[in-house]
Amino acid sequence: MTEEIKKEKLVIIGGGPAGLTAAIYGTRAGLDPIILMGPEPGGQITTSPEVENYPGFPDGVNGFDLMQKMIQQVENLGGRMVYELVEEVDFSRKPYRIKSSGGLYEADAVIISTGASPRKLGLENEKRLLGKGVSYCATCDGAFFKGQEVAVVGGGDTALEEANYLTNFCSKVYIIHRRDEFRATRILQERVMNNPKIEIIWDSELEDILGEDRVEALLLRNNKTEERKELPVSAVFIAIGHIPNTGLFKEYLELDAGGYIVTDKKHSTNIEGIYAAGDVQDPLYRQVITSAGAGAAAAIEASRYIDNYQG
Ligand code: NAP
Repeated sequence: MTEEIKKEKLVIIGGGPAGLTAAIYGTRAGLDPIILMGPEPGGQITTSPEVENYPGFPDGVNGFDLMQKMIQQVENLGGRMVYELVEEVDFSRKPYRIKSSGGLYEADAVIISTGASPRKLGLENEKRLLGKGVSYCATCDGAFFKGQEVAVVGGGDTALEEANYLTNFCSKVYIIHRRDEFRATRILQERVMNNPKIEIIWDSELEDILGEDRVEALLLRNNKTEERKELPVSAVFIAIGHIPNTGLFKEYLELDAGGYIVTDKKHSTNIEGIYAAGDVQDPLYRQVITSAGAGAAAAIEASRYIDNYQG
């Protein structure tokens, strides 16, 4: 790290709901933060077709549109968003250092809001057929399978939401779940149960994804009867949860067993002046509204810390 150093009071890593809200608060507090937007500006929610639980939008809002509004709000307040990826951090010294694709930053305080990424099943063919019928995002890829039969794996809110969404295009949507009950919220459960295009396959696990150049069928195993069957589909949407994006920080920050950054009530990590907010530290709620709230709290705490910063 010998190049020109850009000196900042506050660097925010990640441009999802937590990072952008931290940016709004940090900018309004006069910290002039820089926001390193990362690989998915707007975060995971940008792929959500319909967000019905973010207050202020009585008719719901498309996830991409919601995040565009947040980005616009940061911009209107004079927030500095740069579309850079963080490559390395050095939290062993003050000021803290962050090396990104755009340069080297020194920061008195840092807010980490790098979110989480889709969990993979870990099948060989899942990797080989990615983009050829294997997808982690129905909003992104659903329309490619118009009039076809597809499957969704998972039993949480994401899986059920995606299954419902896919019925807008697809002739039939199977939900494959490893248990005999969903963990998704009741309203989503009712919606899938009442959707004639959706068929639920309980107690079943995906053993393999079959097809030469594209997905042609799934090999399912019923984990109660051990019966195996092939299910012909054109695509499989895997929605089995997320893994927090903490790889860059694990050398310095305390993580829990799931890999989430451990924070206290004030969103402080184990290193003073370094805060975490949103899905990267929250295994429990993972909502846009809770992430936004966490981003606001982290920025307020960072502002207090910077006011008393001794270097
Ligand atoms: P999740 O709630 O963790 O659910 C993951 C699902 O995948 C579970 O049903 C789980 O099965 C299954 N699963 C996990 N690993 C698996 C494996 N290896 N093989 C097969 N199945 C596997 O994840 P999510 O649905 O992505 O939701 C994450 C969070 O975001 C939740 O807090 C949710 O409420 C929230 N969310 C909210 C909204 C909304 O409010 N509009 C929308 C989407 C997500 P088991 O049930 O057997 O564990």
